[in-house]
Amino acid sequence: MEENMQPMGITDNLLKVFNYAFVESAPYGFFVPKDNAYVAVNLVNKVHHCPKCRKEITVDYHHTGVTYFSRDRYSQQQQVYAQLGLDFPATAEIAAEAEFTYHQIGYCADCAKAELNPADTDAQKLYNLCLELHKRDEALPLAARTEMQTALEHWLAQIKESAQVTAYDLSSYTAIKDLVCAVILDDVDAVESLLKEYRDGSTALLAQAQQLLAKLPEKFRVYAARSTAVYESMSDEIYHEYTVVFPAEETVPQDFFVERTVEGERAGMFLQQPRISSLEELLLAAGFADTWVDIFIDHVTALEK
Ligand SMILES: [Zn+2]
Repeated sequence: MEENMQPMGITDNLLKVFNYAFVESAPYGFFVPKDNAYVAVNLVNKVHHCPKCRKEITVDYHHTGVTYFSRDRYSQQQQVYAQLGLDFPATAEIAAEAEFTYHQIGYCADCAKAELNPADTDAQKLYNLCLELHKRDEALPLAARTEMQTALEHWLAQIKESAQVTAYDLSSYTAIKDLVCAVILDDVDAVESLLKEYRDGSTALLAQAQQLLAKLPEKFRVYAARSTAVYESMSDEIYHEYTVVFPAEETVPQDFFVERTVEGERAGMFLQQPRISSLEELLLAAGFADTWVDIFIDHVTALEK
């Protein structure tokens, strides 16, 4: 929690590995797309279809010219159009860069909750456990941050007159920040119990997941969540500037569950990543919020009035 200390990379790293295993698994590569392997498409948006409740979620893409579909992905898209009873644009229209909509069939978040829990297959059970672990990994530093702020607020609540703070050096931002850190570090019981709960829960989930993984083949099919607001490569093999599309900035992220192939090795990699295990690691991952200094200053300034 010193001034120049960066939050530790454990949580960032877990997110990257989770995405590598379950979200965007194509490796980055640089090449110029060749006509025999790619089709240039004027892709403008994507419609997610949930056949269960008939909900459609449309996402506009940030538009910067044509996107290159791998031939595989292109023919899969023709099948999806057929499944939805839509007419696939003629080759001449695609070549003339007529606006194209990408369609995907899967489960909306509500239907996924109902349809995939409990899961029918070991593969889906494993995925569900990994998603649960992922949510816990992401939530822990945020929850710790909230408790750290609460610790500061509790301390400030006891400061009722300016005489109580005259003993402290409040001459600079750094001095105030150091004091705020000291106050937080002096009251870490709530953060410690968050950590214990996280560790106990994650240990149990990890053990269950490892058992399931051991029973699964090298590759397996699952319905996996993908946020409607993340970029996507129109090639399963590789992604790069020609194949990637980015949702428009104003896109509201929603999870949409799409069937995909997962490699057991990558799922195993996610399970084996280092996770936050000590109080120090958790405090570093939570980081320091600059607003805490503002909260402190606001409180002390109000005393002096
Ligand atoms: Zn639905």
